[in-house]
Amino acid sequence: MKYISTRGQTEPMEFSDVLLMGLAPDGGLMLPESYPQIDGATLDEWRGLSYPELAFAIMRLFATDIDEADLKDIIERTYTKEVFGSDEIVPVRQLKDDLYILGLSNGPTLAFKDVAMQFLGNAFEYVLKQKDKRLTIIGATSGDTGSAAEYALRGKENIEVFMMSPYGKMSEFQRAQMYSLTDANIHNIAIKGMFDDCQDIVKALQQDADFKAKYSLGTVNSINWGRILAQIVYYFKGYFAVTNSNEEKVSFCVPSGNFGNICAGHIAREMGLPIDRLIVATNENDVLNDFFNQGVYTPRPADKTYVTSSPSMDISKASNFERFVYLLLDKNSKRVHELFDGVKAGNGFDLSGVLEAVNTRYGFAAGKSTHQDRLNTIKDVYETYNDLIDPHTADGIKVARELQKEGEVIICAETALPVKFSETIFEAVGDSLSEQDIERPEHTKDIESLEQHVTVLDNDASLVANEIKKVVTPV
Ligand SMILES: *Cc1c(COP(=O)(O)O)cnc(C)c1O
Repeated sequence: MKYISTRGQTEPMEFSDVLLMGLAPDGGLMLPESYPQIDGATLDEWRGLSYPELAFAIMRLFATDIDEADLKDIIERTYTKEVFGSDEIVPVRQLKDDLYILGLSNGPTLAFKDVAMQFLGNAFEYVLKQKDKRLTIIGATSGDTGSAAEYALRGKENIEVFMMSPYGKMSEFQRAQMYSLTDANIHNIAIKGMFDDCQDIVKALQQDADFKAKYSLGTVNSINWGRILAQIVYYFKGYFAVTNSNEEKVSFCVPSGNFGNICAGHIAREMGLPIDRLIVATNENDVLNDFFNQGVYTPRPADKTYVTSSPSMDISKASNFERFVYLLLDKNSKRVHELFDGVKAGNGFDLSGVLEAVNTRYGFAAGKSTHQDRLNTIKDVYETYNDLIDPHTADGIKVARELQKEGEVIICAETALPVKFSETIFEAVGDSLSEQDIERPEHTKDIESLEQHVTVLDNDASLVANEIKKVVTPV
């Protein structure tokens, strides 16, 4: 399996090279040349597999230049009960007849990003060792990516991590999770700006070819192909958990920001998993809702990007979206290049002419949720089903209920646990709830009281470059 760029100007590459990459050299995103097609007999076979077995069956189709025994070993070390709390790894629970929750948030940092990131940490260490290389990971986070990356990469050999987060814009719990780490290879940087400013700094450093080569820059933010790959697995797992035969179809509803999670669902569907609809749920930062309903993509300027109570979805543009647009435009990389050069310059684009294909051929639908919707949904789900959900998951449930069709089975992705956002949970449910009612895994007890380590910088890429130069020896 070879990998190509959405912009068409990068030589085809092997998986292990793509794994360590951020943006392609031509500014695009890397994708496999084609998606493997899974037939019914194979689906039947996969239905009975454990999570690690399923992950291996899927990943070996994509990670073709990694020794199979080694890949199996990496996967078996990653997806364990010790790390994810149960052998199921991503347990499914039922709210009612036709509405399920896929529990993706039982890893170390209590958000879905652990599922991919824990794999990436182990895969990086393996590939770096094979290639005798070092890597400087730079990343941008509005909370969950950063902590998931840090917990996946802490203490790993040959890796330094520089993680940018928007100053003062994360929850107390998220800050505590990240800034309390004491591992020498973890460097937290708070930027006086929005998440997108952090993301722009990462892009600016990546695009400085000299700097990038000299300091071996890499990334683990949501454009990383390895993350998308690891996420494909749980769409299969979720599907098998709620169906008895491949004749049945289910829909997935996914709280979305950078389009990373649901992009994996899109690929699972392209591979032949019987997914009916892929429902994108946004918060007030609704660029994806607009696109999937009107066909018009209008990225937001930073001053129109809202700070919301589902902060991990506070984005102005969806960085993985290009992967879908590439396919939608029949792999016309020249056109993709033009459109996303426009996005970079702050322009939007209009693909309403192919909206029909977006909704039918690719199964996409979308809805939006606001602060009040989130509060109402958290309260209602708690009172009706005695189930406490986090604000992002609530956005998903709100949209799923709103869009659900007669007879449609929907699986909602649980993208974080409520304890990460307890302020909003209390606002929603009120006095009937006490601190103890919000379940908190043992390893996260009292983390808010630990000493925090973070460097605060102005919104300027060169300041971040200086931090890197202080620590990393150039090659
Ligand atoms: C990252 C994140 C999202 C958004 O996922 P994308 O892959 O960016 O679409 C949603 N909810 C939570 C809790 C997250 O951490």
